[in-house]
Amino acid sequence: MFWSDELASKLKKRNLPLEWVDDMKTPSGRIHVGSLFGVVYHDLIFKSLMEQGVESKYTYVFENHDPMDDIPNYLDYTKYEKYLGMPLFKIPSPEAGYKDFAEYYALEFKKVFNQMGSTPDIIWTKDLYTKGLMNEGIKKVLDNADKVRQIYREMYKKEIANDWYPFQVYCEKCGKVSTTKVYDWDGKVVSYRCLTDAVKFTKGCGHEGKTSPFSDESGMKGKMPWKVEWPCKWQAIGVTIEGAGKDHMSAGGSHDLSSLIAEKVLNYPVPYAFIYEFMLVGGRKMSSSKGAGFAAGDILEILPPEIARFLIVKMDIKKQTNFDPSEKDTIPSLFDDYQKAADAYFNKTDLDLARVFELSQVGKVKKPPMLRFSTLVQWIQMPNMKEKIKEEGVKEWVKYAQVWLNRYAPDSESFAIQFQLPKAAENLSDEQKELLRKIASEIENVTDPEDFQTKIYEMGKELGLNGKQTFGAIYLSLIGKDHGPKAAWLILSLDKEFIKKRFTEI
Ligand SMILES: [Zn+2]
Repeated sequence: MFWSDELASKLKKRNLPLEWVDDMKTPSGRIHVGSLFGVVYHDLIFKSLMEQGVESKYTYVFENHDPMDDIPNYLDYTKYEKYLGMPLFKIPSPEAGYKDFAEYYALEFKKVFNQMGSTPDIIWTKDLYTKGLMNEGIKKVLDNADKVRQIYREMYKKEIANDWYPFQVYCEKCGKVSTTKVYDWDGKVVSYRCLTDAVKFTKGCGHEGKTSPFSDESGMKGKMPWKVEWPCKWQAIGVTIEGAGKDHMSAGGSHDLSSLIAEKVLNYPVPYAFIYEFMLVGGRKMSSSKGAGFAAGDILEILPPEIARFLIVKMDIKKQTNFDPSEKDTIPSLFDDYQKAADAYFNKTDLDLARVFELSQVGKVKKPPMLRFSTLVQWIQMPNMKEKIKEEGVKEWVKYAQVWLNRYAPDSESFAIQFQLPKAAENLSDEQKELLRKIASEIENVTDPEDFQTKIYEMGKELGLNGKQTFGAIYLSLIGKDHGPKAAWLILSLDKEFIKKRFTEI
């Protein structure tokens, strides 16, 4: 049984009136492709629950209230330096047309996962605060600051000062949050300082003040540290299921601390948690704010949405894998595997694989083309194949074949027709030259490529050539390589006069 179906039937037994699936991300820059895994995994659980008749919701939280603690390397450092330490929703968008920095990157990511068939309702953390939904949690953690400190001490085995409070004010003078430290709470207001040396990446302004920690429609007053905020968010939203990547879920990690806060301070049951492994891209795990590498949006340049989704659905969530599109077979095999899964679905051969295919669909179940990706890559390099590509129903994949050919294909896969007789053809034997002349004289009468392919082989045999020598003669004289796409197809895709000239000039 597929893992999310199995999990859903297990969760169904707990009989909650509503299962609320939630995932989250801080949009601090272009969001890495790895974050799509969380989105799709949560989506799979949500869909399995719905299919089993469990009343469910799926939300995605964009943590737009988090501070900017680093500037992505694709942005102008000098332009953004002054915003370091400020919440992302207060920083201008890199491009016009968006409310703020957070929205710009969040919507870019949302567009990708929507295209891949996941459509959770979006929640902005800032709204949770300004609608007052976090205030109950804020009051509880401040009133119980002692308990919170004790949890930190026990978990991290380090001293936490008695004047440390689990809250950071948005400085009323400079607007930064990374730099502020609350040192007192009287039940109504917190006292805080904006420190010049609180963090390495920016300086506070030195302001001291008192303010209510409770946000309302007039604006956001401050935030909790995220390990404390996470359980408050569970409670504010009503989350019952939230998984996370292994980094948060390890023993003694943030999830353990958040769970203790939920149980001991908030009295809220810890949502069902599942752990998933990361996918490395080209052997590396990358963060969104560093900006290196492969953003979520990049995946849809190289794969159709349903195959990008398939890449995630078919993964073993407990096993780290490496996706390296630059490796010779990665992309072509992924297309092959997708076709195999489609076959399992339509011919009901392998039920588990069929389910993977079904869950990879975006919208209605769609039968993929049957032509192999590697063949399509050859076809797009041959002239006059447009009709044939259309006939095979593989037009939609052409752009992916083109991108693969341009970016990732090894040299051996590119078959450009040489406009001059290739140098490599000079060493053909007399028999090979004779064969080419014969093909040139036959070509006017050819209609069927399959028959022609057999005929070429037989003509070669009559001249004492083996298959490799026969077809090698054709490839060497047209593309300058000793291998290539199916020879008869290649010849027939070209202008007949060109073939006659080339095969007789040798
Ligand atoms: Zn300040």
